[in-house]
Amino acid sequence: MIGCLHRTVKLRKMGELVQPTFRVDAAACQARGLQAGAATPPPAWPKKKDLASAGHVYVYPDAMPAAVAAPAPTEAGAAVYDEGGFCSLLSWSPALDPIAAKPWRLAEVAYGYVKEHPYELAVLPLGATEPHNLHLPYGTDTFEAEHLSDEACRAAWERGARVVLLPAIPYGTETNQMAFPLAMNLNPSTLHLVIRDLVDSLAHHGIRKVVLFNSHGGNDLKPLLRELYGKTPVHLFLFNWYHAVRDAYHQIFEHADDHAGEAETSLLLAWRPELVLRRPDGTLAADEGATLPTRFEAINRGWVNITRPWHLLTTNSGAGNPHAATAEKGRRLAALVAERLAAFLVELSHATLDERFPF
Ligand SMILES: [Zn+2]
Repeated sequence: MIGCLHRTVKLRKMGELVQPTFRVDAAACQARGLQAGAATPPPAWPKKKDLASAGHVYVYPDAMPAAVAAPAPTEAGAAVYDEGGFCSLLSWSPALDPIAAKPWRLAEVAYGYVKEHPYELAVLPLGATEPHNLHLPYGTDTFEAEHLSDEACRAAWERGARVVLLPAIPYGTETNQMAFPLAMNLNPSTLHLVIRDLVDSLAHHGIRKVVLFNSHGGNDLKPLLRELYGKTPVHLFLFNWYHAVRDAYHQIFEHADDHAGEAETSLLLAWRPELVLRRPDGTLAADEGATLPTRFEAINRGWVNITRPWHLLTTNSGAGNPHAATAEKGRRLAALVAERLAAFLVELSHATLDERFPF
């Protein structure tokens, strides 16, 4: 058989065996005096550096290598040719494509992958946009939501969980922080509606297990779980990461952290140290994160709850002393969060939704 031009290969998914899509370019065949649809011996599998990259679509270079007689594994991958010379299967090292090697990230995978690789559960990260003392960025909670959930999903994926990580919601409830400039508020009812619509979307797409990964104390999401219970086929789980590691907190940190303190500063030092402001002497450009008591003992002792007006509670929005923070402490905390959530995600992914679930 002669005349077929294997010209374009779409790798729907790097990192595991895939069935590539071949497009026969009729015009190119004609230009070369070949008959479209018939087969020539296939080209040698090109090396990564020889491929022109366009997102996840890899196109053979126009100048085809000479014919090869047999499957030709290379450092880039391996192609298996059938008797007619068609390439039917190839493998690809995930190390060659760091983006496509993270198939749990919905924002980074294509429909060509998703349509053939259904997910079992979803993780929705929730952050906030608000001041964090004088030294941490406004996106601190969103960075935490993104980094920590991504690390957990990666670990779970590598253990076989079919988990998809949704893009983070970068806004949260800030009604009590509005005295600070550019704290960006979504009222609880608004935030609940946004999450409800996203849960409805997931339900529509057949996903029945959803974990809300919350990184902002002002996001009060348990009432939403209560409200949606019985009204959605989705089983909702709430993971407030700062609650999930409470028992181990003082094994890592010296000072309690309510907001922008030692823990949050350590996390940012681990991931984005260039965003943590320092004074010329190298110390953090932050105050001590001291907080003031109210005039009522019952409130100060936690017998009575209020929404704390943050500008009266703090000096510069920080609640918790950040000065003992280190990147190493941040890495330890992140690893602990990821491990605890990843173990749950693996179990959840494999769990059967029977009548007594989750009992
Ligand atoms: Zn925060």
